[in-house]
Amino acid sequence: MLSIKRLLTILFVVLASQLFAQDDVVRLTSAMLGPTPIAEDLHELCDKIGGRVTGTEPNEKAVEWAVKKFQEVGVDVKKEAFQMPSFWNETSARAEISGEISFSPKIVSRAFSIPTPKEGIEGELISVGYGSEEDFKKLGEKAKGKFVLVQTNVLEDLSGLFGEYDNAAKIETRAEIAKVKGVVYMSSREKKLLFRHLAAKAYNNKLLLAVMARDDATRCQRVLDRNGKLNIKLNLDLQTGGSYTSHNVIAEIRGSEKPDEIVVVGAHLDSWGLGTGANDNGCNVSMMIDLARQMKKLGIQPKRTIRFALWNGEEQCICGSQAYTQQHEAELDKHRIAISIDIGSGNITGYLSGGRPEVATLAENSLRAVPGLGPFTIADVPIVGTDNYDFMVQGVPNLIGAHENYNYCSNYHSESDTYDKVNLNNLKANAAIVASTIMYFANEDYEPAKRQSRAQIQELIDGSNLKDQMKAFHFLKPWDEGTRGRKP
Ligand SMILES: [Zn+2]
Repeated sequence: MLSIKRLLTILFVVLASQLFAQDDVVRLTSAMLGPTPIAEDLHELCDKIGGRVTGTEPNEKAVEWAVKKFQEVGVDVKKEAFQMPSFWNETSARAEISGEISFSPKIVSRAFSIPTPKEGIEGELISVGYGSEEDFKKLGEKAKGKFVLVQTNVLEDLSGLFGEYDNAAKIETRAEIAKVKGVVYMSSREKKLLFRHLAAKAYNNKLLLAVMARDDATRCQRVLDRNGKLNIKLNLDLQTGGSYTSHNVIAEIRGSEKPDEIVVVGAHLDSWGLGTGANDNGCNVSMMIDLARQMKKLGIQPKRTIRFALWNGEEQCICGSQAYTQQHEAELDKHRIAISIDIGSGNITGYLSGGRPEVATLAENSLRAVPGLGPFTIADVPIVGTDNYDFMVQGVPNLIGAHENYNYCSNYHSESDTYDKVNLNNLKANAAIVASTIMYFANEDYEPAKRQSRAQIQELIDGSNLKDQMKAFHFLKPWDEGTRGRKP
């Protein structure tokens, strides 16, 4: 039997620890909003190291830089090696238009396009409209052996961006069947802005794929619309190669009470190389480092373990976070939540919670400490397209930060995704929001969302538009075959 005195002591300790835990959230969120070196880190990563294509020297430099950053603030950190399926990088891309008009359009290859021979490759350029089923049908045999120019609309928002991925997957399948010589997409950005989009089949792509500046492509389109004849000569000088080793950077603040229970929060370190990967995703890499730094500085000790993950190989195949879920398979049951921050520096307005109501509720509760930075809404939908993916198909509760569009779509994967496009004020507020969420999942008592079984994940896939999204990324087959996601 406990004495009254002992009971009171326990009660006091429990209340005090709750007060202090509460205090930790306040201290951390205030610190994130106050002066920190987050902008200097972003400057070092984006301006000094620059674009960070996985497999290239700047990418490895970024890995070493990030390791050093965590070490400098006394956070345990390690590089975790994994295999990338194949190497791809563009050295240069040129094009010449001849026929009724002659000029050199601005052009770039799509990632994982096949290269052209050294002397280039030439062929007739014909219009395939927007590349719909109907459009390809209309061309019929005429498409065979030709370059097809695909019209696009100007990109406005995130749903337009997902539409681009979805369309490309269909267009490239049709182009393959039609046996075209190559696909030239009209850039969906104005003012000669080019961007690096991934071939729909990524490293399994077998097509010649390029993007032409909108201003140049619409000029060609107008000639073709009037039955003019055009030829295009393409020179895509690309470095390609086999499998190679890349690294995730995994930093950790070990839990004081339940160290085997894990909260993982991450952003991808790699970027495409046209710009310097600032909104996508250097700013949120800086956020991860700053969160770890401020926690350490304030001496905050979470009850559960918090892992700060800087993923690699995201742009090419979401391979780094996939590798993590394989390498840490044994720990996945104990992952309380996996959070991905990857939509730039617009205000965080809530989370995407993956089509799991119990996760949506927890996400909502996790924002209670920062009401002044809201209002927040949780969109309980499953999303394919960033590092939450492998956690989702492993059944691990997962969140993606939902942001307002701030300079994100207009500069997405393009030359103009540079430091100056990042909203530093938003970034700091977002850091405080994410701080609130990770502290909630690491410290509070709540009924945890459980890891889903394969059957439950299948139910999620069948009961939402997840299947279509997985198809667009060519992720459905590996799931069905049991080679990616929770094993049957
Ligand atoms: Zn990204």
